[in-house]
Amino acid sequence: MTCNLSEPFGPTKDFARRLDAADKLAGFRGRFDLPRSPTGEPVIYFSGNSLGLKPKTVEGVIEQELADWRTLAVDAHLKGKTPWYSYHEVLVPAIERLVGARPGAGEVVVMNSLTVNLHLMLVSFYRPTKERHKIVMEYPAFPSDLYAVTTHLRTRGLDPRRSLVQVRPSDGEHCISTERIEGLLAEQGSEIALLLLPGVNFFTGQVFDIARIAAAARRHGCMVGFDLAHAAGNVILNLHDWDVDFACWCSYKYLNGGPGAVAGCFVHARHGNDPDRPRYAGWWGDDPQTRFQMHLQRDFVPQPGAAGWQVSNPSILSMAPLRASLEIFDEAGMAPLREKSRRLTGYLRYLLERAPGGCRGGAGGSAGGGGGGMRIITPPEPEAQGCQLSIQVHDDPLRRHQELLEGGAMCDFREPDVIRVAPVPLYNTFCEVWRFARLLTGAPSPEHC
Ligand SMILES: *Cc1c(COP(=O)(O)O)cnc(C)c1O
Repeated sequence: MTCNLSEPFGPTKDFARRLDAADKLAGFRGRFDLPRSPTGEPVIYFSGNSLGLKPKTVEGVIEQELADWRTLAVDAHLKGKTPWYSYHEVLVPAIERLVGARPGAGEVVVMNSLTVNLHLMLVSFYRPTKERHKIVMEYPAFPSDLYAVTTHLRTRGLDPRRSLVQVRPSDGEHCISTERIEGLLAEQGSEIALLLLPGVNFFTGQVFDIARIAAAARRHGCMVGFDLAHAAGNVILNLHDWDVDFACWCSYKYLNGGPGAVAGCFVHARHGNDPDRPRYAGWWGDDPQTRFQMHLQRDFVPQPGAAGWQVSNPSILSMAPLRASLEIFDEAGMAPLREKSRRLTGYLRYLLERAPGGCRGGAGGSAGGGGGGMRIITPPEPEAQGCQLSIQVHDDPLRRHQELLEGGAMCDFREPDVIRVAPVPLYNTFCEVWRFARLLTGAPSPEHC
């Protein structure tokens, strides 16, 4: 397979500097707190796919809520600076823009955490019948998603060995082609109730063609939901137009909402106003106007839209940091961020592929020249690659990872042999990419840039 060398990149340190000088988004780096090494130097933080960095404005928004709690207590629900009763609604417009929901149509809500939301969506959108009972996932799927689906099947009295189908990559490959998913639908479509797939696979970094997969699912009469944990804030999403039934994501990865931040959920407008769709309800999904008429002992009537899936009142202290981060996303805009991300990650791929001791990318690529023994398993096509590159290291991968950490770069290692790196356009630089590539390819002295 060809390598992605089409960008006019150059290998020198000066070239990296010029890319940074021309970067219109460079100023956003100063809005984040950068983790530092013991000597006080910022580390090369390429772990934004696990936990995004902290916006410097987070203390301020949290302090505001603490102040309202301190001075107003219960009255802050209605009289706080941002009233707590409807605090979650403040986050909705920015999230609609990030995931491509129809503005003002009530398709998104922030609530709970990711896996909890997956369970809530499975209750509503996985409606197996005797003929149509299968759920399709990818291989490898994130363990939490797999546990959610398998336990869900069991609580419905179904056997995961019969009702769960995991699409695997072709032999010798790491990524799953859309044709493979379409092929599975052609073979077993009438037995498939739901496809639950990632926007971006956590392990390989592959970006899935959501539009095409959703269209194929619809042709076969299947529901289709996406886990966007690694896609939200990373790639351009158009969930409404792509006709996705539902989607869930967490907010602490690319969205920089902080550890355990409140998660997000999309329910397409065509489902949002159907009060008969089964769901697990709680009072926060009720109509906010009548929610407190507790004496009436009414039947639950969901409020319209995704908000009708809320169960409990959400954590204000978990929503506040996300609010700070979404303001930055709105200012930068997803389209320019994606554009920079293409160049940033494309540059990393270029440097790794051309270096002696570097790696070859794509399917069937061999170990690079100079005995580097590495291979980029993230697909090389620009539309199938987000921020993350997953690098398979053949020779002593744990030691290589340890050397990266000691050299001042933070990235993660996934068993058995994959180093995942995610340069993030909001706060990473081309010089960091250049320095990282030197560290990983064993160039002498981790020069500064
Ligand atoms: C990060 C991630 C999770 C984490 O789930 P939580 O419920 O937020 O703990 C789940 N699924 C995928 C695909 C992820 O990438």
